[in-house]
Amino acid sequence: MEISVVRASAVESHHWDVIVIGSGFGSLFFLQNYLKRNPNQRILVLEWGAHHTQRWQIDQQKNSAIDHNATIENESKKDWNFSIGLGGGTNCWQGMAARMHPHDFELQSRYGVGFDWPISYDDIADYYTAAEALMEVAGASDAGRVFPGSASFPQAPHHLSTTERLIKKDRPDTFFAAPQAKLTQGKNGRGACCNNGTCSFCPTGARFYAVEGMRDLWEAPNLSICTGARVRLIEATGANAEAVVFESEGRDFRVKGDLIVLGANGIHSPFILQQSGILDGGPGKYLGEKMLAFVEIMLDGIDHFDGGTATTGFELSYIDGPHRSEHGAVQYWTNNSFLWGGLRLDPPNRYREVLPIGITVEDLLYEENAVVDEGGDIPVVRHGGFSDYAHKGLDFATSKIPEVFSSLPIESVELRRILPTTDHIQGSLRMGSDPAISVVDKRQIHQRLRNLVVVGTAVFPTTSWAVPSLTCAAMSLKLGNEI
Ligand SMILES: Cc1cc2nc3c(=O)[nH]c(=O)nc-3n(C[C@H](O)[C@H](O)[C@H](O)COP(=O)(O)OP(=O)(O)OC[C@H]3O[C@@H](n4cnc5c(N)ncnc54)[C@H](O)[C@@H]3O)c2cc1C
Repeated sequence: MEISVVRASAVESHHWDVIVIGSGFGSLFFLQNYLKRNPNQRILVLEWGAHHTQRWQIDQQKNSAIDHNATIENESKKDWNFSIGLGGGTNCWQGMAARMHPHDFELQSRYGVGFDWPISYDDIADYYTAAEALMEVAGASDAGRVFPGSASFPQAPHHLSTTERLIKKDRPDTFFAAPQAKLTQGKNGRGACCNNGTCSFCPTGARFYAVEGMRDLWEAPNLSICTGARVRLIEATGANAEAVVFESEGRDFRVKGDLIVLGANGIHSPFILQQSGILDGGPGKYLGEKMLAFVEIMLDGIDHFDGGTATTGFELSYIDGPHRSEHGAVQYWTNNSFLWGGLRLDPPNRYREVLPIGITVEDLLYEENAVVDEGGDIPVVRHGGFSDYAHKGLDFATSKIPEVFSSLPIESVELRRILPTTDHIQGSLRMGSDPAISVVDKRQIHQRLRNLVVVGTAVFPTTSWAVPSLTCAAMSLKLGNEI
């Protein structure tokens, strides 16, 4: 889709009703509802990256012209992954779209670790449904046994492989077709999933990508989009955020606005606050993400890889329970492709007798893992690596594989590796009820600057085991509807 963008020099002299920083999941799902309620307000989106079409991304085999690693100084024992460009993470994401479990919002009060969210599952249940509708999520309605209020999905589930059908028969209440923002039936110009496992470069449009999937939003006459605009500062006086300073075309610009929406991802959003001297609640602290490990289950005499998409199933036996007092909740994704490499070579001719799985493990967030402003032009990121809480969770998860997958003829279980990053950035601007230890309140409004809101996964106070973007989308739809 063609997107008309405005130049920085054309936006400077206006006073804006709303200035939105970044154009990823948080910002765009916020705008989706906010625009409908405020069709006469003048809204400006400032986006650091460019608009790269899907075709450009496939041809270049990258999601952005800006190397995300060059935008941070990473002193962590792990990597971080994100995409700088119009649409943010909707460019590169895999399309996995799970809800969180109701108990994920109550980690501290139930299990004595981590932090309680200031909102509950019920607060966003309807918005989960709305986000699933907007992205045309394909999923199985029986997952409603685990996620209250989840009924039929807009798209039929991707079909399970032969192997997964055995698991489903054995564990009907905990194993389900994975919810995916990837179409099983083409719709509105988006094709069906071609199941070639290259979801970050989806060639058919099956996987939700905001630039194509939110056409009404881009065509709104009161929305101006300025790309190539790197936000550096938010200026504030007293309890009011007043202006945004950004760099474009080699110089700085300053724009004034009544409401400022900060959605520049879990590393760059806290850095903007730090550079602005807006230090309430400790922006940048408690940065983290869950762990992701790649395991292969070697099968004896049964073939895999005849499922309908790259990741076809998810197993939820241990996403909740008293074990969370001791170690992280765990979830198993069953993959229908080698997302992270791998091939069964021995013995010969048994290439398909393997079930690749991804295990996600909840981790705790620690104050010392942080985005830090060291006075330079880019954020310094310090993280000590996944904690014992996550490592113990992974040990637990692998020990449970013979039980969870007992319906399969398992020859061996091979833990291949812990991935250097799960691609989810969380916690650095967490929400909470105590202003001393949280940056935003339960409505995602900054604890002191009441016309500044933060969107995106930065506000998550815990990692949970679940992929974050559907929850981020649901929370942003709620904010856009209510503020
Ligand atoms: C390879 C990959 C695969 C993933 N797969 C999944 C998945 O299957 N399921 C899932 O739930 N999640 C997935 N994720 C995670 C998902 O992308 C993030 O959870 C989500 O994008 C976070 O939303 P956000 O709004 O916080 O940030 P983003 O979506 O990253 O948006 C931030 C926006 O701010 C812009 N920006 C940054 N700094 C500035 C600045 N200074 N000035 C102006 N603009 C700025 C960025 O360009 C971007 O547009 C994946 C991530 C990656 C990298």
